[in-house]
This record gives sequence, structure tokens and C-alpha cells, in this order.
Amino acid sequence: MKAMSDKMILEVRARLCVQVEVTEGSKPAASPIESFEDMNLHENIMRDIAFHEYDKPTPIQCQAIPIALSHRDILGIAETGSGKTAAFAIPLIQHCLNQPPLRRGDGPIGIILAPTRELAQQIDKEVKAFSKSCKGVRASIVVGGTNMGEQRSELKSGIEIIVATPGRLIDHLQQGNTVLNTISFVILDEADRMLDMGFEPQIREVMRGLHKEHQTLLFSATMPEEIETLAEDYLNKPVHVKIGAIRPTANVSQHLEKTTDAQKIDRLLHCIMEEKTAAERSGHPLPLTIVFVERKARCDEMSDALCQEGIAATALHGGRSQNEREGALRDFRQGRVNVLVATDVASRGLDVSGIAHVINLDLPRSFEDYVHRIGRTGRAGTTGRATSFYTDRDSFLVAQIKHALQELEKGNELAFATGKAARKKEREAAAAFRDGLRADGSDPTQILAVADKYKHMAVSGPGAAEISTAGAADDAWDD
Ligand code: AMP
Repeated sequence: MKAMSDKMILEVRARLCVQVEVTEGSKPAASPIESFEDMNLHENIMRDIAFHEYDKPTPIQCQAIPIALSHRDILGIAETGSGKTAAFAIPLIQHCLNQPPLRRGDGPIGIILAPTRELAQQIDKEVKAFSKSCKGVRASIVVGGTNMGEQRSELKSGIEIIVATPGRLIDHLQQGNTVLNTISFVILDEADRMLDMGFEPQIREVMRGLHKEHQTLLFSATMPEEIETLAEDYLNKPVHVKIGAIRPTANVSQHLEKTTDAQKIDRLLHCIMEEKTAAERSGHPLPLTIVFVERKARCDEMSDALCQEGIAATALHGGRSQNEREGALRDFRQGRVNVLVATDVASRGLDVSGIAHVINLDLPRSFEDYVHRIGRTGRAGTTGRATSFYTDRDSFLVAQIKHALQELEKGNELAFATGKAARKKEREAAAAFRDGLRADGSDPTQILAVADKYKHMAVSGPGAAEISTAGAADDAWDD
């Protein structure tokens, strides 16, 4: 391929809305490449890309794949939905193909760490899809909630790529089921979320155990200070790659509807029935819809209520078994059910293409969770809708959302930012909001309601020590 001039490189990056910066004193980063054919990929990978029906690379792929193939470390800022999984999976597979074949008992060549079982499963699926034709590249998934013995024998048989959640990987390392010192390619996906979930010690343990010569790609949706520190500690002169235009919220039209607790369920049923009728009128099924609710029990109730109305719905929450959850997701993915009623367990990372509508029957507890929820639609360049029912109790969060929408209108890219720094700002705003209410003599019951709802955000004052900084409480399951 003809070399690009510096001016052309800048033009292509601007068109793709990709920002690239190299660490001071390091050589320029590889140019973006806008077709898979020009990337010099192994023919078997090309076959699998064609099989996947990916016509052309997404912006992050155009830029990150050539940089990774030039053996540079990457600090990538990209959301799920931008195509980042293939952006790191393809160079990793190519890297494995360039290594001598493994023998039984050898440690892996590459490792991908992800925060949750669900995300690890999605990554594993994608790695397997792009290495289907590559006989010498086997991937294995190592996550909690599944049989340790089966994973052990797979690991011991000599596999090239491990996709893991940090906790379970450490368990296997401690049992001597695999080793780290053969690894030459590491990917940390959704690193900000792994840190949020308290996996920093495990990540550091893995990074410390690696052979000196290795390449690292770190992807994060946000860039809080602790990610910068992690990158400084473990990345070697990384190229910073940031995807600007694909914000999860930019192509999602957001509607807020005031209601009361008593009316909420009727409003939801009405809204879904209306959509179903409209879709059927034009000969289509009800588009894929996620309904977020606060509690597991409500999740089951709502999905039953929808089924009674003749709507194919299923529930996804941490109270269901692993098999049930996988079955629910599979049915939803394949369109056998049109509505997935979920707690916040589905709000991050979950990638189901074609979700047209996200409905918040209950608003989440924090702005950050709201952003992650609505990011389930409008993915990979499509448009989506989000409808949120709110009551008086949600006044602070609704004010934040309205403000962020105004900011987005004005072109403020960070209006829907997430991450630790954004959360700190949110806590400060919540405290100011409380103080403001007190100062203007507002209804004290309202103050209490707001303070109670947002107490997990408060950083000072009585009870601060027991305050949880975790996201939604009723929803997570352990890995
Ligand atoms: P990710 O950001 O990796 O979660 O990907 C988001 C969605 O985009 C997934 O459903 C991918 O299958 C899809 N995708 C990734 N790369 C491409 C591509 N080059 N062309 C079309 N779809 C893609």
C-alpha cells in the first residue's frame, strides 16, 4: 500500500473521529487503514472476517489494528459498541499465528482480562469467530460460576489464548493450572470497570508475573486517574487512541416521562403494546427492547405481566442460575423474545445488536448507571431510543440528565461521561443539591427522600463509613 503523507493521515483520522497521540520521544504511530484487505492480515483471519460479513473496519479498528500489528502498546479509549473487541482480537490472533506451535503443557501466548463473566463470554465468542479457520489458535474461557475442573484440563492441554475474569484466573494460577511467563500479548478490556469492581490487585499480580517482553493493549471507556497510573506502571510508551464520535449516547434519543409509582406499570404496558401494534401494522415484530427495573423480584413480575399481555418477554437478574441467564440472553439475541426485563446486571458491556429501545421502568441510582443502560441501544453506528419513567423521588437524577442533554446539544462531548472522576463530580453535585434544598426551605420530606436515595453518593457526614460506592446493589453477581 502507498505510504500516506502526514497531512493525509491527519485528514483520515479527523474523518474517522479518531485521536492519536504518541508518548513523548517515541516514533509516530502507524497510519490508519480503512480496509481489512490492506492490513496484511493472515489469509485465515481474512476468511473469518469475510464469514462475519464485516465489510470494512470501524474507526477504532482502522487505527488500532495497524498500531497493534506494529508491536506498539495501546491505551485505547473506546466504548463497547465501537467494534473494539475485533480491534484487539484480530491483532492478538495474528500474533499467535506468528509464534512457534505450543506443546501440551505449555502456557498461553495471549491473555484477555475482562471485568465480568458476560463480557468475557462475548469476547471469547468473538476470538473464536475470528480464529475459526486458524487451526493453531485455540481460545479458552476462564470465568467464575463454571466448572473449575473442565477449565483446568483445557488450560493444561496447551491453549494459545485465555479470556478471563481476574478472580478466576488468579485461582487457576494459585492451583498451578497455568502460568503467565509464556504470555507475550496482554489485553485489559474495560479496565476502568475492572478497577471499579476492585480487581486492581489481581490485575497488578498478573502484570507482574509476565515475561519482560510483551505487548499490552489497555482499553477503557473513561480515563480516570487510576487508569493513567496503571498505564504508567505497565504500558511501554503506549500510543493513545481515542474514538471521539461514537458516544453511546450521541445517537440515542432520550425521553423522560413523569409518572407515579402506582401508574408506572400501566404506562409501561401501554407503551409496549402501542409499539407492538405499530410494528405489526407494518408487518414487523416488536423491536428488541430492554426494560430496566430496580429489583430482582420486580424483574420476574414484570416479565410475567408482559407475557400475560401476549408479549414474549424474559427476565435477566442475578437470582437466576447461570444456565437460565444464558438461556434468557440467547432467546433475546435470537429474537425469540422481544423484551428483556433486567436489573443493572445487563447495563454494562452487554452487547446485543439491534436493541431498539431501552426503557427505564425504574431509574437507576446513579447517572453513571443511567449512561451505561442507555448505551445498550444505538450501538455500532445505529440509532436507538431510551424512555425513562420517573417520579418525584428521581428529581436529582432527572435534573442531571436534563442538564447533560442540554450540554450534549451544545456539543459538550463529556456531558455523558462516566468513570471515577465523573462520579466524584456527581457526589459533589448531589451534596450541593441537598444543601440548596435546605437553604431554600424546601419540603424536608423531599430532602429526606433525595438524601436517602442518593446516600450511596455522599462522601462525608454521619454514616459515611458504611456508604457503598458500588453501583446498583441488587444486581451484581460474583465472578
Ligand atoms: P464491540 O464494541 O466490540 O462490542 O462491537 C460492537 C458490535 O459491532 C458487535 O456486535 C460487533 O459484532 C459489531 N462490529 C464490530 N466490528 C464490526 C465491523 N467492522 N463491521 C460491522 N460490525 C462490526
